[in-house]
Amino acid sequence: MSNANLLMIPGPIELEPSVLRALSEPQRGHMDPYVARAFSKVIRRLREVFHAPGGQPFVVAGSGTLAMEMSVANLIEPGDSALVVNSGYFSDRIAKMLQLHGAEVTHVRAKVGDIASLEEVEKAMASKRFKAMTITHVDTSTAVRADVQALAAIAKRHDALCIVDGVCSVGGEALQMESWGVDVAFTASQKALSAPPGLAVLVASQRAMAAWKARKKPVASMYLDFAEWLPIHEAYEAEKPLYFATPAVNLLLALDASLELLISETMDARVKRHQRVGDAARAAWRAMGLELVPREGLAANTLSAIYFPGTVDAGMVKGVGARGVAIAGGLHPDIRAKYFRVGHMGSTNTGALLTTIAAVEGALKDAGHRFELGAGISAAQRLLNA
Ligand code: PMP
Repeated sequence: MSNANLLMIPGPIELEPSVLRALSEPQRGHMDPYVARAFSKVIRRLREVFHAPGGQPFVVAGSGTLAMEMSVANLIEPGDSALVVNSGYFSDRIAKMLQLHGAEVTHVRAKVGDIASLEEVEKAMASKRFKAMTITHVDTSTAVRADVQALAAIAKRHDALCIVDGVCSVGGEALQMESWGVDVAFTASQKALSAPPGLAVLVASQRAMAAWKARKKPVASMYLDFAEWLPIHEAYEAEKPLYFATPAVNLLLALDASLELLISETMDARVKRHQRVGDAARAAWRAMGLELVPREGLAANTLSAIYFPGTVDAGMVKGVGARGVAIAGGLHPDIRAKYFRVGHMGSTNTGALLTTIAAVEGALKDAGHRFELGAGISAAQRLLNA
């Protein structure tokens, strides 16, 4: 057995053997036809994963933050206005980026664990002309999931571009980019796409590409500019390698292997599996007498955010680690020390979830929380076997 803990943080996550094998393939050059074939498959499969048959995928070495900045740098010009549907830490991050790239930012905020109502967003959108609306599909700091379909419809009604941070959702939550009218959605390889960290992944709609082409000022970054990356992606899609900046070759092979698994599971089945695992996790936490950070009905299926009960504190996260499972502490600055987070995305199966729940139960007992040992396991079991 590996000496690493079962990795149940909200990314990076446990990897499938075929993905690990791809990582350890011999180093090939980026002009190698084998690499070009894999890159081409990745580009074509991303359209399926994002449900964006007419979209333009970009895969660039970097993390999710780079994908976020790529969306902002290409679509925003100084003086533009942007509306941020703010559900936590990562909504604040894109707001900061929008400002750095010269946008005037309006936030529609809610209290921690909640998200602004559609009525509030509609009202804010009607107050002035916005070039773009940004939505954090799942804010990893609160586990709140936004209603992207309804918000994208509001953006469309007001003729604004709809930019979706799907870093903690794509590959786990339903996202029908094209039919919902989303203009840019981005993620990172290490989350529900189930590959190692290191790749920024973005899909732009034709409307987004047209908005980029219609810019008055050049993009203020060479590495982020669609103008540099579009010819590269078009060439690799045609299996004709072309150089701008050295791609992360083995990460592309690993992403190709993981997308193979996603597509063969089918996106619908994958979303349903995440729903089932999410439901089982939430049933377990509640059965242990724990309170969730997201308001009822807003909880994402890719992770849980859970308040420590009573006098239990962040030491409990170490207790879970000592039982062989890695989970995460808090992230949202307003409640950082008061809660913990458990990722359950990617190929998380019944066994991994039950092992995690058992480790959380043990650590909570040690920390003095009073509940019936096994209550969480039993609640999850009932749902998983329903
Ligand atoms: N957005 C969201 C919703 C995230 O969860 C994360 C990472 N946790 C990011 C953006 C930033 O991604 P990265 O850490 O890969 O830069």
